[in-house]
Amino acid sequence: MASIFTKIINKEIPCYKVAETENCLAFLDINPNAEGHTLCIPKKEIDNLFDLDTELYSELMVFSKKVAKALKKAVPCERIAMSVIGLEVPHAHVHLIPINEMKDITFRNKKTFSESEFINITEKIKACF
Ligand code: AMP
Repeated sequence: MASIFTKIINKEIPCYKVAETENCLAFLDINPNAEGHTLCIPKKEIDNLFDLDTELYSELMVFSKKVAKALKKAVPCERIAMSVIGLEVPHAHVHLIPINEMKDITFRNKKTFSESEFINITEKIKACF
C-alpha cells in the first residue's frame, strides 16, 4: 500500500507544499513542533532514510539544506534543527524544525495552526528561496 507521503506526491491528499524538485518534495508537517516545521522527502518511496542510494540521499540533503536556509529566513528562530525519526510514516523523511531551545525538538510540545496560518507560513517560506 502506498504511504501517506506517496499519496501526497500523487496529489491524492493535500499538503502545504514549500518546495519541489524532480526527485524531492518539502511540505509542512501537519502536527508541528513549531511554526514552519517542514518535512523533506524523496519522491521514491523507501522506508528508511539510510537505505536511499547515495545519490538520492545526497540529493535529499542538498534539497533539505536549501529548504532550511529559506525556513531560517522566514521564521525567527535560533536554529533550524534537522531530525530523522520515521516511527510513524514508513517513507523516508527529514524533519526541519525552527528551534530556540532544546525542548523545541522533543516532539512533545505540539503547536496547532489554522488552515490560514498554515497557508501564510507556507507562502512566507516560499518567498525566501
Ligand atoms: P515520524 O515518521 O515519526 O518521523 O513522523 C512522521 C511525521 O509526519 C509526523 O511529525 C507527522 O505529524 C507527519 N505527518 C503525518 N501525516 C502527515 C500529512 N498528511 N501531512 C503532513 N505531515 C504529516
